[in-house]
Parts: sequence; C-alpha cells; structure tokens
Amino acid sequence: MPLGLVGTAYCELNNQKMKPNSLSEAIIREQLQSIQDPYLGLDLIAAKIVKKIDLSDTKVSIVLKFGYPVQEAHPVIQTISKILEPLLGDVALQITSSWKVNPHAAQNGLKPVANIKNIIAVASGKGGVGKSTTAINLALGISVLGARVGLLDADIYGPSQPHMLGTKEKPALREDKRLEPIVKYDLQTMSMGYLVDDGPMVWRGPMVSTALQQLLNETAWDNLDYLIVDLPPGTGDIQLTLAQKIPVAAAVIVTTPQEVALLDAKKALMMFKKLGISIVGIIENMSTHICTECGHHEAIFGVGGGEKLATEFEIPLLAKLPLDSRIQQQSDAGRPSIVEEPEGSIAQLYHELALQVTAKLSLQARDYTVASPRLVE
Ligand code: ADP
Repeated sequence: MPLGLVGTAYCELNNQKMKPNSLSEAIIREQLQSIQDPYLGLDLIAAKIVKKIDLSDTKVSIVLKFGYPVQEAHPVIQTISKILEPLLGDVALQITSSWKVNPHAAQNGLKPVANIKNIIAVASGKGGVGKSTTAINLALGISVLGARVGLLDADIYGPSQPHMLGTKEKPALREDKRLEPIVKYDLQTMSMGYLVDDGPMVWRGPMVSTALQQLLNETAWDNLDYLIVDLPPGTGDIQLTLAQKIPVAAAVIVTTPQEVALLDAKKALMMFKKLGISIVGIIENMSTHICTECGHHEAIFGVGGGEKLATEFEIPLLAKLPLDSRIQQQSDAGRPSIVEEPEGSIAQLYHELALQVTAKLSLQARDYTVASPRLVE
C-alpha cells in the first residue's frame, strides 16, 4: 500500500498517536539516532553508519555501511527492524548492509606493510595468562565474520601457534624468495616454529629483531584486512622492534585478574602508551572458573582486576573470558574453541571479542596514504 494511503493504521511514535503517512526521512533519522551500535558505543548517525534513507510509496530503504566486519545477525540490524516496523504499517522495510575495513593509522607515521591493512598486536605483561590462546581465537573470530585475517607468531624464542593450530607444515619458498604463509582454518599464518625444529632457540637480541621483521616482511601475505600479531610476554626486544619498526594500528592487552598479573599488564600498557601505540582495550582472561561438573562460576583469581586497570588507563575492558578446561583441551589438541565448537558458548564470547576489537579500531584515524583499499606491491 502506498505510504500516503496508510490512513487507517495508527502506530506509536514517542508515545504519540500518528499516521504512518507522516513518516519522513527526518523521523526515520531521528529513530536511527536513538539506536546505539553496542560495539562502537555510538548511535548510528554519529557513527556515520547510515549512508542513505529512501522513502517511496511502498518501501523504506536504509543503506548501512560499517567500518568493521558484520553479519546479518548484527544486533543493530535487528533493532532497526524492531523500532521501525511498528511505524510503517504496510510499507515494506529494506535494510541493506555492507562493510569495508579501512587501513588505520599506525604509530609515529610508520608506513603500512604491503598487503596488510591493519596490524593488531596481542600483548601481555606475564606469560601463561592465555595471550596466545586469545590471539588465535580472536583471529578466528574475526575471520568467521568474513574478513581476511592473518596470524603472525612473534614469539621467536618460544613459538606456540603451530601447536595450537595443529600444524607442523613447512612454508614453501616462492620464486620471489618470500615464504608462502601456512593457511589453517582460513587464517594465513607464519611462525618461527614452522622454520626451525623443536628444541631451545638461542638468539641474540639483534637477531630476534631481524627475525621478527623478516617473518613479517618476507611472508607473502595475501590482501589481509587484519594481521593479528601474537607477541611474547613482557616488555623486551621484540616489543621494542614492534614499536619502532612495525606499523601497529592497535594493541590489546591480555591479563588475568590477579594482582601479580595486573602489575605486569600495567607495565606493558605503559610501554605501549609511551611508544605511541594505540591500545584498543584490555581482555581479562581466566576471569571466573566454570566448573565442568555443575557449571558453577567461581572467581578464583579475584574480582574486578580488569575493570580496575581499564578505568585507570581509560580504555575499554573488551571481554571477560572464563577459565574453562575446554579452552585448554581444545587449544592443546590443535583445534581452538571456535573451530571445535563453532556454535558453543565459548565461541560466542570470542565472536563478541572480535566485534569489540574491530569496531573499536574502526573508530581510529584512517591511514590515507593507502590510496586503494587493497595494497598491491
Ligand atoms: P600465554 O600466551 O599467555 O603464555 P597460553 O595462551 O599459551 O598463554 O596459555 C597458557 C595455558 O593456559 C595453555 O595451556 C592454554 O590452553 C591455557 N588457557 C589459556 N586460556 C585459558 C582459558 N581461558 N581457560 C582455560 N585454559 C586456558
């Protein structure tokens, strides 16, 4: 039925009875302004997600474009339908959504690496807090959203990603002398663990720096939206190389809630801040223990540590991930939780984390030195 003829159907708008035929672009815009994107923390108009509103006699069309990967089930798309449908009477609502990942500016004006739009570093102050596990599941979570994702294991001394990915494949050397990344679970991956046999790795500081840069620059990454870099723990040579030579669009810090872990996480945060790397947020891992027998949640490492750190540094707490034996078992079996139980509750938490990280990064300044969306050498 044409918009102007929906005379008999009345509906609620701001608690006032009004005819749908009084619908206008301004009213729709006003409604969209009342909807928050939960990952960006902004309304749809302020976030510049709404690209077009079209009204015809029979249809309202809304075109949305996100700066981070979203799927049809995105809560914003569902909320728009819920809020607008009662206002439309018989008029159809069409929501078209798309997304495009832009390259975002890195620290100190460092130039982007060919074929990588954004590098996201996953760091921690201490070892054993679950940084590598989180990095791999974050990478997989972003990939499931549809983006092109790579994972670089920057732990030159003790690479763990090959084990967690369940692969020992050797990367092929291409004619141009670059390494072909190992593609596993749709991720393009590279690790020192692929190149050297098991056993202790003895490196001098400068060699580690060079090795990291080589792994990054001499891998033939194929048009990545995001490269997740799994850093070793602490604030040593590798972190310094990363800060000085590698264009990092954003870093996330993984910590557990105990005071000892938080103290080290704070040091890592301070280091990144000082070196000009943008920190998109904190991830609290092993937040509560979930009992496999009864499902009871217990905060064995204390409560509120992640929140405290986030408040102190005025950055978001992106996720609180449980201490769950399935995460450990799946990861040790080379099948990360998102792969092993893609519809499970743990995978859901990592999907949310992926949205949080990519959405927060999309709010940062863009790198306009990259003329085309896909960098080609
Ligand atoms: P890091 O990179 O900080 O040294 P890892 O990711 O290697 O830590 O994790 C250390 C151990 O803890 C691994 O055995 C891993 O499977 C396990 N682990 C990590 N996160 C969790 C979690 N949320 N629940 C249960 N086990 C976890």
